[in-house]
Amino acid sequence: MKNNVALEEAQDLLLSVAQPAQECEIPLFDAVGRVLSREIRAPIHLPPFDKSPLDGYAVRALDTERATAAQPVILEVIEEVAAGHTAGKKITPGTAIKVMTGSPIPAGADAVIKYEDVKRTGKLCKLFTPLRPGNNIILAGEDVKKGEAVAGRGTLVSPALVGLIGALGYAEAAVFNKVKIAVISTGDELVDCSQKLQPGKIYNSNLPSLVAACLKLGAQITALGNVPDELESIADIVALGLADADIVITTGGVSVGDYDVVPDALARLGVYIIYRGVDMKPGSPVVAGTKDGKFIICLSGNPAAALITFELIAVPLIKKKMGLVNYLPARVGAVMSDGFAKPSPQRRFLRGRFHVSEEGKNYVDLTGEQSNGVLKSLVNCNAYIDVPAGSGRIAAGQDVSVLIVGDVFAR
Ligand code: AMP
Ligand code: MG
Repeated sequence: MKNNVALEEAQDLLLSVAQPAQECEIPLFDAVGRVLSREIRAPIHLPPFDKSPLDGYAVRALDTERATAAQPVILEVIEEVAAGHTAGKKITPGTAIKVMTGSPIPAGADAVIKYEDVKRTGKLCKLFTPLRPGNNIILAGEDVKKGEAVAGRGTLVSPALVGLIGALGYAEAAVFNKVKIAVISTGDELVDCSQKLQPGKIYNSNLPSLVAACLKLGAQITALGNVPDELESIADIVALGLADADIVITTGGVSVGDYDVVPDALARLGVYIIYRGVDMKPGSPVVAGTKDGKFIICLSGNPAAALITFELIAVPLIKKKMGLVNYLPARVGAVMSDGFAKPSPQRRFLRGRFHVSEEGKNYVDLTGEQSNGVLKSLVNCNAYIDVPAGSGRIAAGQDVSVLIVGDVFAR
């Protein structure tokens, strides 16, 4: 077991042993938000055939060579092809076939003229300008070539990718299984938000916030509820979580108080403790362990500390298990809009809102009170300001480094 590790080591000790979840095939319609477990290669060209991008007439460019406003070329319209159908006839010299947007280009044609640029009378059409071969033709494979890799293993499936996979004719997608996470809160003082608040008690906010954070990642959640600060009860519920989940997350009871019995409960279960304590504020009393290839991460009960350490330590692990290849938050430079008066003997993460000015400059505003228990300043937070250990007060206008943890452009 290691003690008081740096955040990067805390992440790495878990990531270096975590493997992505098992793979499965699911219906394409369910694939959005999941992660591809296999590269997708195109079995066909996209589009599969040369097609018309507009309503018009398919012709031979050669036939139109001498067309002018004064001396139009006259062609005979021999057929009409709607989208979804193919022409029965071939274009021969002096003929044209009417086509619609998406119609396959009839054999013998090498250009399409817009409907509006043609004067049609009965079976004949007049063209007033010459066309070049290839005019107004979408070539087969213009979007995707047969055999091309369109998305790699580890890609998060977006609606556009679902569309592309469907366009290639796949009704299913190979993805990683959802990560199963059990969430447990511990503490005698906690009351479920559906109950009446009694003297000395507080509502449980970590269980709902962490379940929400896991759901947002697309995990499969079991909210095992709250247990009192008793070694037996905690050991029982953690064992229940480990029986089914890939990752068990607990909050509370990991500090050094008389009732902080979570580490003892883990020892009772034979969990191997990877580390105890992470050198950061808030949330330093994190315990991470493993048993039978499963992970258990025990977070401080302080609501902000719990969510911040969840984001920085549990989320990268969950993302790796989801099969993602980018699992660490992006780091960018920004200018502090506000000052922060307290010195930081220990590395500190401040809750901030990152934004880009109209001039393209990165700024970060503090979102409010920064103490361990304060949840309100996390509500609008999309970035953590990474303040190195040993820093003095931070002045407005100072350059800082931030980790992006939320939507930067959401309003
Ligand atoms: P602990 O980590 O158990 O020492 O708890 C630290 C602080 O967080 C205490 O003030 C607890 O009352 C509070 N706390 C612990 N768990 C929760 C929770 N699930 N929801 C809200 N506050 C909590
Ligand atoms: Mg407690």
